Amino acid sequence: MSAVLIHEHAALDDIQVRRLMSMMSPDANGWGQGLNIPTAMRREFLSAVEQSGVNGISPRYLVFEREGRVVACANVFVSETDFATFDPKLNPDARQTLKRWFPGFMRFKVVEVGYFTMIGEGLALADERDLPQVVNCLDRELQLLMEEFDADFVLIRDVPQEKYAAYWQVLGELGYAPSTGFPNARLGVKWETLDDYLSALDSKTRLKFKNSLKLREEFSISVEVLGDYEHLADELAVLWANVNAKAKDYSREQLTAPFFKACAQHLAGRSEIIRFMHEGRMVGFMLNLVGEQDYIVLDWGVDYDFPHYREANLYRAATVLSIQRAMAWGKRSMELGITNYTPKLTLGCEIQPLTYFVRHRDQPHYSRTLARMLSDAIVQPDNTEHAAVGKVGSVTHDLPVFERSIRQDQNLYQAQDILHRVGSYQRSNTMRLGGIYGLYPEFNCAQQSLVTFSNQQEVVLLGTNSYLGLGSDERIVEAAVQALRRYGSGCSGSPLLNGTLDIHNALEHELAQFMGREAVALCSTGYQTNLAALSALCGPGDVVLMDARNHRSLFDGVKLSGADCLVFRHADLAHLDKLLHRTRGRRCMVVTDSLFSMEGTIADLVGITRLARQHGARVFVDESHAIGVFGPRGRGIAELQGVEGDVDVIMGTFSKSFAALGGFVTGRRELIDYIKHNAGGHIFSASLPPSVIATVRAALQVVIAEPERRQAVLDKAHYMATSLADMGYEVSYHGAQIVPVVFGNYTLALAAYKRFMAHGVYVNPVGPPAVPEQFAGFRTSYIATHRWEDLERALQVFRSHLPDFRPASSH
Ligand code: PMP
Repeated sequence: MSAVLIHEHAALDDIQVRRLMSMMSPDANGWGQGLNIPTAMRREFLSAVEQSGVNGISPRYLVFEREGRVVACANVFVSETDFATFDPKLNPDARQTLKRWFPGFMRFKVVEVGYFTMIGEGLALADERDLPQVVNCLDRELQLLMEEFDADFVLIRDVPQEKYAAYWQVLGELGYAPSTGFPNARLGVKWETLDDYLSALDSKTRLKFKNSLKLREEFSISVEVLGDYEHLADELAVLWANVNAKAKDYSREQLTAPFFKACAQHLAGRSEIIRFMHEGRMVGFMLNLVGEQDYIVLDWGVDYDFPHYREANLYRAATVLSIQRAMAWGKRSMELGITNYTPKLTLGCEIQPLTYFVRHRDQPHYSRTLARMLSDAIVQPDNTEHAAVGKVGSVTHDLPVFERSIRQDQNLYQAQDILHRVGSYQRSNTMRLGGIYGLYPEFNCAQQSLVTFSNQQEVVLLGTNSYLGLGSDERIVEAAVQALRRYGSGCSGSPLLNGTLDIHNALEHELAQFMGREAVALCSTGYQTNLAALSALCGPGDVVLMDARNHRSLFDGVKLSGADCLVFRHADLAHLDKLLHRTRGRRCMVVTDSLFSMEGTIADLVGITRLARQHGARVFVDESHAIGVFGPRGRGIAELQGVEGDVDVIMGTFSKSFAALGGFVTGRRELIDYIKHNAGGHIFSASLPPSVIATVRAALQVVIAEPERRQAVLDKAHYMATSLADMGYEVSYHGAQIVPVVFGNYTLALAAYKRFMAHGVYVNPVGPPAVPEQFAGFRTSYIATHRWEDLERALQVFRSHLPDFRPASSH
């Protein structure tokens, strides 16, 4: 790397910025002169990091000058960070699969201000009053560096709490968002001897610490302090890697032998290792720096296989011995770095909050998303509740309170603004940043076996609810066109007043006849039908018993009604029975889907209606997915199971088998009449437009006249379910046209959905809140008009991706 001065330009006002490429070049002579720079920013330390080539980072050093006088300098480096490891729900297998499919998934190139391997503010100023101007200049430089390195964002790290406001004032205007960082552990060394320190501890901790120093007596371990450790670099790297491999919360750095070697060379006399020897072998070490004012624990390593590893507690011994070394060097403060806070609190450390500021290169709205991702990943320890702390430390920071205030500043909306939740929602942006967002795909044709998207890509559609394949049926389209011509585009009014056409009444009549019921009321969607019917039929004081996996619209309907909602475990009739016993004597309704849309399971309506009858409860069944597909006449599961007479209310939607939009509820005449005159969702919403009514009427005629469509869709689903299961997928098949595949991770499901789409198959990703995370996966559903060759094509795609759903170990 050439170590020349590469950049000089007039920056804001009178400050000029020089960029240095290397700490080892003569240009760096005088680096930091006149500034009170911290240890980590000293030339020898930066040289050690730079020379070791650790993590392949590209360092840049910025010097800010006014009229030839240095006013500030900053340490900047470019590195790669993998945010995928931040998601605790993404297990290593799923992560690996995602990386195979989308190599750039959550991998970011970052321009950072701070240090590699050390904690602390990466910007040092001669006079703090220059901070606003310098930070402005810094941002311009960072923008140039992002462009030069094609980086995704900048991260200004480790700003201490007392300087937060000054930074935020400038950076907030520049499109940055703040995030809580890993806090730093610091111990004020106010004792002259180790004994003084130990006697300041509570008796239990004192005993533990004293015991931890009996290494020779108990385990034949000897302790040495070495200022020259260059020859040990390889061993140190091995022991360090053991610790890093176990790190759960932070494992970004990859320290290598050259790093330890470079430290020994560049930091001679300013660094040392405490090493533990057992039978001539190094079993652990701690590498510490001797700073200007402080003593700094840099890293440590251990051999976990060493037989006394657990009992000997070398980490504790190393830290206590480090305190002793700090005293020996006459330092009044010791730094113990990030993560692993509990033992540090026990030592008496104060955990100091640190903030990061992040800005996406060109999409300012992603800055907040990134900040949120960082905050979510970095857990702040609660240092106010630690017993040993009171004795030796002085807790001044309440990290949970600090975190709340930073999260507030992350939010575009104030906490007292009702829209604050808009600002705290980041999930969709997180997916976009991860490169796996694919929701709202843009179809540009009718829903059929093979569809096209706006990019003209053809895909096999395994994700529509148009189960009978009527979405593009000529007869139905023609009926809608005729109605549009005759009646116009819409009704513009409530069914109760100006919104009822002759065809609305005709459809109600035909549907009632088809369902074998006395009457029908129409609503504008299926969702609204459930809101309307349940809120009208139930009220405060009543009890509604709901299957846990019922459709959201049923839950919302009960909420709107004000009735008490009790939930029984999915398809668990024993649980339902228990709840019915518990609510005996109260007015009760059991509400259930008949065919569960996400699980593909079919309710046991025989059992449910029997229990309801025994307890005097009414039964409401949502047949949205079953009408047109199940039952000898296509009326749904109640018909299939022969219990229509025991179901009081049935609802259905026109958005599935009927290939349109709208919903209906059916039951006895007086019940429907009551709904028609009392249900807000029916009365206070305009009638379905004529074209839709004509569509549904025509579709109903096909449902009645072509029962073979029911067989066709179920046959296709059976074929696909068996093929997928035979292949090795975890298929949830219960004989329905809905066939979910479960793999228990929503992020992976979203990625699979996008991946399959790119390979020519559309499936629906399924996850929270529709189903719990462990049931996340993708949902396939079939239509009567699927072409066999399209299904085969889809199977091929599933087959080729199967290994991706298996744990890496079984590949
Ligand atoms: N109930 C169930 C069981 C559903 O699956 C759905 C739609 N997914 C609805 C009601 C709502 O129907 P619509 O789409 O017509 O609003």
